[in-house]
Amino acid sequence: MSEKIIVANKGLVKADFAFWVGQYMDKFYDSLEQKKIIGNKCQKCGDVFVPPRKICGKCNITIPLEENWVELPDTGILVNYTITPYRVSDRRARKAKSMIIGMINIDGSNTCIVYPLLDVNPENIKLNMKVKIAWNDKTEGAPSDIKGFTPIGGE
Ligand SMILES: [Zn+2]
Repeated sequence: MSEKIIVANKGLVKADFAFWVGQYMDKFYDSLEQKKIIGNKCQKCGDVFVPPRKICGKCNITIPLEENWVELPDTGILVNYTITPYRVSDRRARKAKSMIIGMINIDGSNTCIVYPLLDVNPENIKLNMKVKIAWNDKTEGAPSDIKGFTPIGGE
C-alpha cells in the first residue's frame, strides 16, 4: 500500500497573473483605448458579437479574424440588472454603498456586456431603458476603459 500525503491549506491564495486574451479580444481592447466599440459579425446568421467571438455558437463556424468587424455606437439598452453590496472583484468585501450591475445590449449587437450602472437611483431603473457608455478619461486598452453606463436623457 502506498502512502498518501494529503495537504490541506485553508485560506486565500493571492495570485497576480497576466495572460493574453487572444487575437479577437486584443482587437476589442485596442478599440476601447480609442473609445470605440467594435463587434464582429457572423457571416452566416448575421449576429453581431460584443465582445467579439472567434466562433458563432449558433452556426458553429469560425468568424475570420481579419473580416466582419463592425463599429458600433456607445449606446445600448439595459436588458437586466442586479443590485449588490459586494464588490464584483472581491465578494467578501462589502461596500458602503450598493452597486448596480447592468447587462447591456449595445445597439446593433446581439449579445450583452456587464458593467456598473452609474448615476441612477434604483427606483428609476427601467428594463430596456437607453444607456450610454461613461468612458474613463484615460484609456489603456482594458475593460476598465469603460467606467460603466449612464441613462440617456436623465432619470
Ligand atoms: Zn452565426
